[in-house]
Amino acid sequence: MYRKFTDIEVSPLGFGCMRFPKTDDGKIDRSTAKQMLLKAYEGGVNYYDTAYPYHDGESEDLLGEFLAENNLRTKVNIATKCPVWEVKKEGDFERIFDDQLKKLSTDYIDFYLLHALDKQRVDEIVLKFGLIDKLRSLKEKGVIRHMGFSFHDSLDSFKRIVDMCPDWDFCQIQMNYINTDYQAGIEGLRYAHSKGLSVIIMEPLLGGRLASPPERVLSALPKGKTPPELGFDFLWNMPEVGLVLSGMSTMQQVEDNLAYMSRSHIGMLSDEDLKMYENAKEIFDKMALVPCTKCAYCMPCPLGIDIPAVYEAYNATVSKGMKKAREMYAEITTAASACVGCGKCLKVCPQHIDSPSLMKKIEAAFAE
Ligand code: SF4
Ligand code: SF4
Repeated sequence: MYRKFTDIEVSPLGFGCMRFPKTDDGKIDRSTAKQMLLKAYEGGVNYYDTAYPYHDGESEDLLGEFLAENNLRTKVNIATKCPVWEVKKEGDFERIFDDQLKKLSTDYIDFYLLHALDKQRVDEIVLKFGLIDKLRSLKEKGVIRHMGFSFHDSLDSFKRIVDMCPDWDFCQIQMNYINTDYQAGIEGLRYAHSKGLSVIIMEPLLGGRLASPPERVLSALPKGKTPPELGFDFLWNMPEVGLVLSGMSTMQQVEDNLAYMSRSHIGMLSDEDLKMYENAKEIFDKMALVPCTKCAYCMPCPLGIDIPAVYEAYNATVSKGMKKAREMYAEITTAASACVGCGKCLKVCPQHIDSPSLMKKIEAAFAE
């Protein structure tokens, strides 16, 4: 079941620590989250992916606390990321890294990534502050064990970043059976693999949208599996895929995903299955409106708009019908009409969604 990844073996499933269950005050439900982490560990998961901004900084603290309490630090791999957009002057990288070690209660990071790279961040931050050399130096000191990056931009930009540094150990890209030709896509996956990088997949279920895909999409897919299982198996089938991250929010999801993981292996799908996935993607592409993954990087909106909820309601106009979509839209306290087009959300959206324009369009669509 375990897969070769860089110079170690990892579980096919990695625990994404960005969608923990929350209490009413918006903080992590720490007790439930720790039980979920323990369940995943007991089920064989040995890779835990967090980042400086996840859960407003609470995710790294929670993971560090969990590993210390259960004496598991040396038994699992921690991945965390440098928020490159917060590197604004010399010393910021080192300050943030030291803070991360403290938060994670550790003196080394197994997998350290430059977070959410795109062309602009590479040109304006990574090159300007020599961040790749800083990673190399940390690796030489043994404070990080592997260096990599996560990515959201075009295929050309992806190849440029891969080629920029012969020392990358791994990278993390968005992929699922819908996003095969989006951002890095399958071509990028194969390119990175051919250059010796191990590849982690994020957004295997397209921000949860493939956990309950439209009926027409589901009916085009292979039978006898749940929608999440269909999503994971598409990725685990590929030899170039190192591991697949899932941001789990409930104990049920952990239990289900562990069962899927235990059945996974390279080459698990037939040619006929793969044709069905292609067909399902074609159907989905015709129905899709906004490629929002609900990552919430755009939040909070200064005007109080629940941006991902607006897109969820808008996308529901095709997947669930106008009546249901209107009900969902009506439940949003501050909706699209409040948008003043400030562009704050567009600057940080990994999917480059043009919210200032879309908010107007969506308001008009629901007003009709
Ligand atoms: S452009 Fe609109 S939706 Fe985006 S942050 Fe500004 S007000 Fe909010
Ligand atoms: S609009 Fe962009 S940043 Fe906001 S939740 Fe959707 S994908 Fe994430």
